[in-house]
Amino acid sequence: MADPIYRAPKGTHDVLWPESARRRALVAVFADIVEAAGYTEVVPPMFEHVEVFRRLGDATDVVRKEMYEFEDRGGRHIALRPEQTASIVRSFGEHRPTLPWKAWYAGPNFRYERAQKGRFRQFDQVGIEALGPEDPHLDAEAIATAWRFYESLGLQQVTLLINSLGGPEDRANYIAALHGHFASDLGSLSEESRSTLATNPLRVLDSNRPEDADLIAAAPDMLDHLSADAAAHFDQVQAALTGLEIPFTIQPRLVRGLDYYVRTTFEFTSGAFDAAQNAIGGGGRYDGLAEAMGAPATPGVGFALGVDRTLMACDAEGAFEATSSTVDVFVVDTTGGEAALLITDELRRAGISADRAWDGRSMKSQMRAADRSGAAIAVIVGDDEAESGTASLRDLRGDAGQDTVQRSSITETLLARLK
Ligand code: AMP
Repeated sequence: MADPIYRAPKGTHDVLWPESARRRALVAVFADIVEAAGYTEVVPPMFEHVEVFRRLGDATDVVRKEMYEFEDRGGRHIALRPEQTASIVRSFGEHRPTLPWKAWYAGPNFRYERAQKGRFRQFDQVGIEALGPEDPHLDAEAIATAWRFYESLGLQQVTLLINSLGGPEDRANYIAALHGHFASDLGSLSEESRSTLATNPLRVLDSNRPEDADLIAAAPDMLDHLSADAAAHFDQVQAALTGLEIPFTIQPRLVRGLDYYVRTTFEFTSGAFDAAQNAIGGGGRYDGLAEAMGAPATPGVGFALGVDRTLMACDAEGAFEATSSTVDVFVVDTTGGEAALLITDELRRAGISADRAWDGRSMKSQMRAADRSGAAIAVIVGDDEAESGTASLRDLRGDAGQDTVQRSSITETLLARLK
């Protein structure tokens, strides 16, 4: 085949059937689980005033380096959303729903990333945000909800990592301690990490560069910098997870990309694929974000799960396979096509899925199309049937053969046979 003139832009891809059906089914599983836990859907716009995302913090990579920003024709400074927490919290401030507000969402995000396997410039997430309570059990509920979702998909190799970043003061103290630690041996740090250190010392902990490994291993521990309050909150989150029998690993180096997190942070990784992109979801508390958006100060906790990567984990584990849905009935009409037009419409209105052949092809060609469609039964209207006001029904899957019914009783007969 000749090369196409146009391809999807770098970092994006088309999702064709049956993968598209699988994706929709995954979102449906998620919706069922979160709605059963009292979360209601919010559909925010895919773009916002750029300031909404700037509120996530200047040190946040996705804001600083990866946003798709533009000026619209009205001179507004707009950004495609790189994530949805900011939009949900902006929406919270705008509508002031009663508390607690438990919202869920699904849809695409846009980040100008270095495109590679599992890292795209447009990718889907499903997520929840719960605003109002500070209760550590809400953190545990959020984590458990994601965990139950992965379980429902049949994933067995998911690991939960948790950490606490403490309150804003603890976090600031820790950042100062980290800065001191790394600055004391600047020469041993990679050039990239030296520049990260200037903007966001926490993110140096995320570096995978071998030359940084020793200094990172010797870095101070966040958990030693927790206030009594934050430590008690974190203990209660852990106790709740233990009570729910959800296994977790404390990962004191877990800082995560968005710099608005305080207290609990968590991440889910998949053991089913190696790669640097093994994070399939994550979240945490962002108690200061609502206030930063100009809303009344309101604590919040939530998570976002990467749909693309979760499906990759399903592929690797052989879980949540695509089901190949096909139509029930295929209509073959060699008498001009009007019979096919009317019969398919009648069947579909009765709830029977039906497809047909086109362009008035020969009987042989239409029967081939019927076989390819995967339908269970073919409805055939040829000259004989047209003359006698009948249709032939042919079993395409078994060996029940063919019989003839009156045109007026096609739907009724098929409804009975397809039960
Ligand atoms: P984040 O919003 O950065 O906390 O990411 C939450 C989850 O979204 C990650 O664990 C990934 O599964 C997924 N994710 C984030 N960025 C990308 C990307 N560029 N491509 C695909 N998935 C992503």
